[in-house]
Amino acid sequence: PNPARLIDGKALAARLRGKLQQKIQDWVEQGKPRPGLAVILVGADPASAVYVRNKIKACKDVGIESFHHTFGADLSEAALLAQIAELNADPNVHGILVQLPLPKHIDPQKVIEAIDPAKDVDGFHPANVGLLAIGKPRFIPCTPFGVMKMLEDEQVQLRGATACVVGASNIVGKPMTLLLQAAGATVTICNSKTRDLAFHTKHADVLVVATGRPKMITGDMIKPGAVVIDVGINRLDDGSLCGDVDFESANTVASAITPVPGGVGPMTIAMLLANCLGSAKAHH
Ligand code: NDP
Repeated sequence: PNPARLIDGKALAARLRGKLQQKIQDWVEQGKPRPGLAVILVGADPASAVYVRNKIKACKDVGIESFHHTFGADLSEAALLAQIAELNADPNVHGILVQLPLPKHIDPQKVIEAIDPAKDVDGFHPANVGLLAIGKPRFIPCTPFGVMKMLEDEQVQLRGATACVVGASNIVGKPMTLLLQAAGATVTICNSKTRDLAFHTKHADVLVVATGRPKMITGDMIKPGAVVIDVGINRLDDGSLCGDVDFESANTVASAITPVPGGVGPMTIAMLLANCLGSAKAHH
């Protein structure tokens, strides 16, 4: 069997960042305020530290000002909420991002709800989730937004297609389902209790996997010719990264597939930057 076409998220993200950089330059040259993103990191989770560093570097590259707030894991919930209130009131800040996960003594939902919905560039605030659900999105969560951009760039026909999303988290699976459905796909969303997962995955023309279970989707669970999007980022014992899809076996069945790394990850960051510019424009 022929190997699947590789969906190069890294290259697409670079193209999108180039366009954004131009748009931001034009915006600033018109005398408009430079977009600003505040990034809050609490604690020393090494993966989170890498994500935050990448986001800040990406901001710099496209001309978004970033404001970096790092706190020890002992930061109180009240202090974090006070920091967010300060950023909500800061006119130079158009986007506020709190890197998850947070230390156990802090309620992430409370923190998300403290962010001004007009600065919630992650799109996690209930007001923004609601807007997305009724088809009037303000901020689309970055990872599913990036997946949609990849599908669009690949010219994948979603109208009338059968899609399956494996994983039902608030940050990936659920918003992914809403977006695919809005694009005209018939969508099934699976979770850890799903009986006969392969039955569902095997019917999907478009399969999106976001479970955090390394290589759990194997080639025999995929419909021949399907487009497979692997959101998972898992670090194996040998230090290498892998997705939630078993690339080796999936690659011989799918028509197109995202690699890990170099697939969805870079797209997530590109869409965060796009949301920041969108927010700066909306604030102006
Ligand atoms: P969560 O742990 O929040 O959610 C995982 C979801 O997968 C849950 O709905 C869970 O079901 C479901 N699930 C777990 N095991 C199975 C299984 N065996 N069969 C079917 N469903 C299962 O994870 P996230 O959504 O936050 O992240 C998922 C993955 O995506 C992770 O690898 C993460 O690192 C990666 N990620 C990548 C990003 C990127 O930029 N590329 C961004 C964000 C995440 P249940 O609801 O029943 O518990």
